[in-house]
Parts: sequence; structure tokens; C-alpha cells
Amino acid sequence: MKYKLTDKCPLTVILQLVGDQTYDLSAYGSKEEAWAAEKGEWWVEQNEDIDAARLEFMATLYEYSQEEVVSAAFDEQAWPFDWGYVTEENETVHCLVCDCTYPENAMPPIVKACPHCGNSDKNQTVYLSKEKGNGNN
Ligand SMILES: [Zn+2]
Repeated sequence: MKYKLTDKCPLTVILQLVGDQTYDLSAYGSKEEAWAAEKGEWWVEQNEDIDAARLEFMATLYEYSQEEVVSAAFDEQAWPFDWGYVTEENETVHCLVCDCTYPENAMPPIVKACPHCGNSDKNQTVYLSKEKGNGNN
């Protein structure tokens, strides 16, 4: 299975884990911005002073790059999917017999044959996405 980022995925993803809840604070853009916006909330009330509150707040934040978002998808963590940050990527197969293209998993479960002409000879098909950007080998 391959995953690709969607347009929804921010450059920097900021997760907040509180108890068993996961919140998406990515819209703030940085941990500091998140703190600036949230420090008026119950974080400060729960603590003796604002520095302690800040420390506790920061300890609940996790920052991910876009690469790490894809890695999280491979690790079967739900949040990249729940928030639409990644999507599964089917590879496109090009049938050399009838010159059509079709998505790799077009015929479930794993029938590796062209849905148009029934060609199942792997030597007569190529993966288009793997050719991309490969130039001459
Ligand atoms: Zn075909």
C-alpha cells in the first residue's frame, strides 16, 4: 500500500494528546502560537503559575513534518486518515496488449489482470507511476 499527502496536510502538523483524545492544533502553525491562543483556557487554572502551565501544555504537543505524517500512516495511526491528511494511492497500470490504463486494485481482491482485455502477463503491463521522473535507466 502506498500513501500520498493531500492538499489538506499542513506543512507542520501539531498534535495535542490529552488523555486518550487527539486534537489537531495545526492551524496555529507553531507550538508557540498554539500556546498563545490556548493559555487563557483551563491550562493556567490547573497550575500554580503560567510557567508550569506552559510546560505542561508543551508536553502534550507533538510536531510532525509532512514526511512524518506519511510515516504515521504506514504505522497505521488513525489521525492522518481521520483528518484527511493522507490518502491511499493506487498505482496506475498500463496494459501493453490493449493500450489501456487501470488502477492497480481495479479488480479485487488481487486479480492481476487487465479489466479490459483480461491480459494477466506481467511482462505485458507496466506501472505508470513508477516510470514517472525516472527518465532513462
Ligand atoms: Zn488490456
